[in-house]
Amino acid sequence: MGETILVLAHTNADGALPKPALEALAAAKTLAAGLGGCPITIGLFGKTVSAAVAALGGVGVTRILTVASPHLAEARYATDAAAAEAIAKAAAPTVLIAPATSRLSRIAAGLAQRLGGRADTHATGLEAADGIPKVTRWYYRQRMVADIRRQQRPWVITVDPGSFPPAETAAGTTPVEEIAVTFSDGHLRTRVEGFQSPPGSQQTIRPDAALLFVAGAGWTKKQRDGQSHIAEAEKIILDFLRKSGASLGSSKSLADQTGEGHAVLTFMSHLNQVGQTGSTPRHPKGLATCCHGEEPHVVGWRFINERRAINTDPNCGWAHGKADVLYVADAFEVMRKVNELL
Ligand SMILES: Cc1cc2nc3c(=O)[nH]c(=O)nc-3n(C[C@H](O)[C@H](O)[C@H](O)COP(=O)(O)OP(=O)(O)OC[C@H]3O[C@@H](n4cnc5c(N)ncnc54)[C@H](O)[C@@H]3O)c2cc1C
Repeated sequence: MGETILVLAHTNADGALPKPALEALAAAKTLAAGLGGCPITIGLFGKTVSAAVAALGGVGVTRILTVASPHLAEARYATDAAAAEAIAKAAAPTVLIAPATSRLSRIAAGLAQRLGGRADTHATGLEAADGIPKVTRWYYRQRMVADIRRQQRPWVITVDPGSFPPAETAAGTTPVEEIAVTFSDGHLRTRVEGFQSPPGSQQTIRPDAALLFVAGAGWTKKQRDGQSHIAEAEKIILDFLRKSGASLGSSKSLADQTGEGHAVLTFMSHLNQVGQTGSTPRHPKGLATCCHGEEPHVVGWRFINERRAINTDPNCGWAHGKADVLYVADAFEVMRKVNELL
């Protein structure tokens, strides 16, 4: 089957392209090359798209299709799906590749339904195998990996952020076609009233950070002097996060303590939890501190390339083949020294 690819993305509120969109473009280029150079169209929607169009004019695609409207400033199912549908119908792709941002993840299934196609989400790999597109994704909290091929077209695929290095942007003269979409009152019935997010000082989850710093329940336990030192633990951890720019992860035990209202690390929430019932973040490096390294926790480290841990217990889980390096040491002492050096 001769495939044609559409890379679909939205712009941010400021008109710029989110980084995962360039990663989806890189995925599309890998697939297109594997399929012998099939054509790629880029489709963009948002409040404004001109900056993104300017950045993509020379990336080597055939066409750029756009829908720009003030009604697309905010994420809303009805308007996003209508814009995406109009672009997809104009491009008529067999494979539609989109970044798995919350905005595109929300509409992927509905879009496939409107196009009479199928959707697969959370792809971490995309390539041509024997001349046929193949999607790789993980199941069961990253324990099982599947290769998926499909007969049905169009095939809507969302690519998980961090799975591909972003494509380079380049200015150029790719033809741009603006598509007009009329939004009715029905499209606009859902009102977006704004965002609620924690203050900047509490933004501890940083998906783009080079390092994941995981804190475990040990930070709140009685130490050698028979006392717990929670205030100092807070200070050491926050100090390190500020100086290193690392992202903060937690074990379940520590996140649960915080949720139960104990006087522990006030900046920690269940959103930080890494593991089987938590998240599976992607970072080049990870450092676990005062965390035992049990399997339900470590399964969330699937996509951390280099793993280190600090634990006073030489027989902790990390020592059993789960970390590349285990420092058998007191994390209070080590991190105090690290902060000093930073
Ligand atoms: C169905 C199920 C799902 C689960 N899902 C998750 C999940 O998603 N994520 C998760 O994390 N867990 C999960 N768990 C729980 C998991 O099995 C562990 O109970 C949990 O990860 C333990 O957390 P911890 O290592 O912080 O605490 P602990 O087991 O209490 O370990 C604390 C560690 O700190 C060390 N320590 C203490 N003081 C110091 C010091 N000064 N310096 C260095 N080290 C020190 C101790 O030696 C110890 O190893 C799940 C369990 C089940 C049954």
